[in-house]
Amino acid sequence: MSSSRYSVTLIEGDGIGPEVAESTERVLEAAGARIDWDRQEIGVAAKEKHGVLLPGPVLASIQNNGVALKGPVTTPSAEGYPSLNVTLRKSLDLFACLRPVKSLPGVQSLHRDVDLVVVRENTEDLYAGVEHEVVPGIVQSVKVVTRTASTRIAQFAFEFAASNGRSLVTAVHKANIMKLSDGLFLECCREVAVQYPNIEYREMIVDAACQHLVLHPARFDVLVMENLYGDIVSDLTAGLVGGLGMVPGANLGDNCAVFEATHGSWPEAAGKGLANPTALILTSAMMMRHLGESEIADRIEGALTAAYVDGQSLTPDLGGSASTTEFTDQVIRCLPIGVA
Ligand code: NAD
Repeated sequence: MSSSRYSVTLIEGDGIGPEVAESTERVLEAAGARIDWDRQEIGVAAKEKHGVLLPGPVLASIQNNGVALKGPVTTPSAEGYPSLNVTLRKSLDLFACLRPVKSLPGVQSLHRDVDLVVVRENTEDLYAGVEHEVVPGIVQSVKVVTRTASTRIAQFAFEFAASNGRSLVTAVHKANIMKLSDGLFLECCREVAVQYPNIEYREMIVDAACQHLVLHPARFDVLVMENLYGDIVSDLTAGLVGGLGMVPGANLGDNCAVFEATHGSWPEAAGKGLANPTALILTSAMMMRHLGESEIADRIEGALTAAYVDGQSLTPDLGGSASTTEFTDQVIRCLPIGVA
């Protein structure tokens, strides 16, 4: 019943990160996963200990192990250092961000029939971080879109759809206004789409897509988009299925993968036991599937579903009063007996 042994980089992150990471470690172990954690730190904790926000050994660890599980990391707004998440994704060329958004039975949410996947280009767009002050009072942010990255993410989205029994890919864009940059992105999506005649291809302008997603999310399947739209749309879609505590994620490259939930570090809740660990637990199931351990992934997803159907131990985001630890205990109780 137990898995093979794996060495995986673990970055707990900050804010609610350490709490949801601890829950996830406990669930993985109880589900029979055998993992040697290579513990690494980035962000403020790393700066205090090592004098740098992103120590070199962190990247080396992920490259060596090929797989990392990561909690959220705080990025200061409008000042301070650049996002370490963006730096990590760019340094490791984790070009595809995959965020499956699915209704879970028993969860009170706006919609009950959501089963879509947001595929976000992870390396360029306005996240290239090219900003400067032209003259005082006027700043410029450069939006970078390349044929190479756009074609690569479109291919990823169609290939994901083809190999996961999905039938529709929707490219989300704003090419009516940004005719060159989003126009190039759409051109690349169209070129890739013709190579997949069995998968329906549609295009939707991002603002209209947001409205349709809120009203009729079941009409969507795989969505592919540039970095900024992907960031925003994935939080919007999380709101359809119970909130950010529910949506897992993965950053995938050709050589390594960093698995992290869609949510951030929610600093105000740090250490209070308020965080819903579902998103990172589901993320760990994605990681086990990536490692070829589908049985363990199924067990984890099954236990989460059973915990929600039971409904006795819900975290505050879903209207309950259970702490992060109490909900985790309930998930572990819902695992099949004797798997570890
Ligand atoms: P956030 O995702 O941390 O929190 C927004 C709201 O979502 C919270 O107020 C809370 O209501 C809800 N929420 C988030 N996670 C939850 C959970 N596990 N359970 C229940 N409810 C949850 O977003 P923010 O407040 O905009 O950002 C806080 C910090 O996180 C910022 O510094 C931001 O840069 C960072 N961030 C990091 C990552 C990452 O590390 N991948 C991603 C997004 C944001």
